[in-house]
Amino acid sequence: MSRILFIGLGNMGAPMARRLADAGHELAVQDLDPDRVAALASASPRIRAAAPEDRARAEVVVTMLPTSDSVEAALEASGLVGELARGTLVVDMSSAEPVRSRALADRLGAAGLRALDAPVSGGVRGAEAGTLAIMVGGEDADVDAVAPMLRELGGTIAHVGGHGAGHAAKALNNLVSAASVVATAEAIRAARSFGIASQRFVEVLNASSGRSVTSEQKAERFMLSGTFDSGFPVGLMNKDVAIAVGLADAQGDPVVLGAHVAKIWAATAERFADADHTRMYELLDRIAVGREEDPR
Ligand code: NAD
Repeated sequence: MSRILFIGLGNMGAPMARRLADAGHELAVQDLDPDRVAALASASPRIRAAAPEDRARAEVVVTMLPTSDSVEAALEASGLVGELARGTLVVDMSSAEPVRSRALADRLGAAGLRALDAPVSGGVRGAEAGTLAIMVGGEDADVDAVAPMLRELGGTIAHVGGHGAGHAAKALNNLVSAASVVATAEAIRAARSFGIASQRFVEVLNASSGRSVTSEQKAERFMLSGTFDSGFPVGLMNKDVAIAVGLADAQGDPVVLGAHVAKIWAATAERFADADHTRMYELLDRIAVGREEDPR
């Protein structure tokens, strides 16, 4: 069992930290929001608020933060890198920017630390159930060292390449997912306009070639129900899609459909960044991308 410093206790980080504690790891946790730290520390005897000695004793640091900016702030601007023991393995499970992750891994290496990027897919429910898909970038030996811990969190652990490759795979996965959310929401709405009951149409998708995680796990549960509470906001989806499109552009292999999907999410995030991403279903007629008129 490892001594883990876990940073970022939001929608994903909190259930992931709880799972690691339940599996027997010893966790010191930190977050900008002290209420989140207190709530988690009271949830398990193996979780406590991180003190300076916990930072020096940590064998593994897990970050589950919104963006590359917040990862760099938590690790570097805060001075944490200087507090960690040499050889500590930093595992960034956030969905961050691959090129920045590669550069960060180099800087951590220069400071005597080891780094992996290990972002996840599967949402809040996957985090609670320990069924996340985890995409890992970094050295073989570091992946092997942390594999038992990752197996507490995910059913699939895919080592996809060197530093940054996990973050690249994650962003590109979310580009596919983001396109599917828009396509599925549009199709349900068009079917409804033609008089086909929405639930019936989702059943058709799920029995046909239009089936996807959106149709199976999001359409009825979060869209048609009107709850829109999957735990993943438009702003984070927009960030991931922009990373993916930027990555493809930078490789000289630009994405055509992806670029349009990115415009749709960017226009939505401009006004509705905090809305759950499944609200795309009802926001579609309030964004202007690809239309003659701006409905605003
Ligand atoms: P969240 O916004 O719910 O939580 C982020 C947490 O990080 C907050 O508690 C915030 O206070 C904390 N934080 C921010 N900056 C910090 C800092 N410098 N130091 C310490 N704490 C800091 O985000 P989330 O939904 O848990 O997502 C985390 C990451 O996982 C994101 O990159 C997201 O894109 C990705 N992700 C999210 C989902 C999902 O369904 N929510 C699914 C897969 C991947």
